[in-house]
Amino acid sequence: MSLPKVLAEGYWRFRRQHAPDKGRYQQLAELGQAPSAMVIACSDARVDVSAIFDAEAGQLFILRNVANLVPPYEPEGKYHGTSAAIEYAVLVLKVPHLIVLGHSRCGGVAAYRARIKDKVQDDSFIGRWLTMLDGLQAMDTDAAAFGRETAFELATIRSSLAHLRSFPVVQEREGAGLLTLHGLHFDLASGSLIALDEEVGNFVALVEA
Ligand SMILES: [Zn+2]
Repeated sequence: MSLPKVLAEGYWRFRRQHAPDKGRYQQLAELGQAPSAMVIACSDARVDVSAIFDAEAGQLFILRNVANLVPPYEPEGKYHGTSAAIEYAVLVLKVPHLIVLGHSRCGGVAAYRARIKDKVQDDSFIGRWLTMLDGLQAMDTDAAAFGRETAFELATIRSSLAHLRSFPVVQEREGAGLLTLHGLHFDLASGSLIALDEEVGNFVALVEA
């Protein structure tokens, strides 16, 4: 067995750097996880969720899929990896925060938009997955503030939040004030986040508290 050299070297660096944290890993192993948030992000290799939030092991329950999409609640018995993770985080781990994290230059969103433009029918897994974006419209206010491409990425975040709220368990816990939903968009080039302010309906820059 040979891991790519870059990964093997990274692993041994991890082992050396975290040797003093052994107690912490032991504690996590024994006590289980109690993450402070679930993050639903894109699989894009450039979106390093733990790095963005400077988070340690055990802090974030992370789900990544193509274009950070949440399917609507569909209890029809098929294989729903995303829905299963959401249900587990909310029902079992009782996370107090659900975060949808989109990003700039999203290949999944761009591929979908190109396909729509070229009217390509696609029965691949990724083609089917991206049909979740069918009918999605970028908001004019988002386009005016951030440009058309980003506005479409923001629309996917809004859609994922709406779909999260179609899950009874999310409705229940949000209604009881035990769960807060957040929409964030990460700019790859600058490393900055904008956040959806649901009271005014716009994405705004994050300010340091
Ligand atoms: Zn992406």
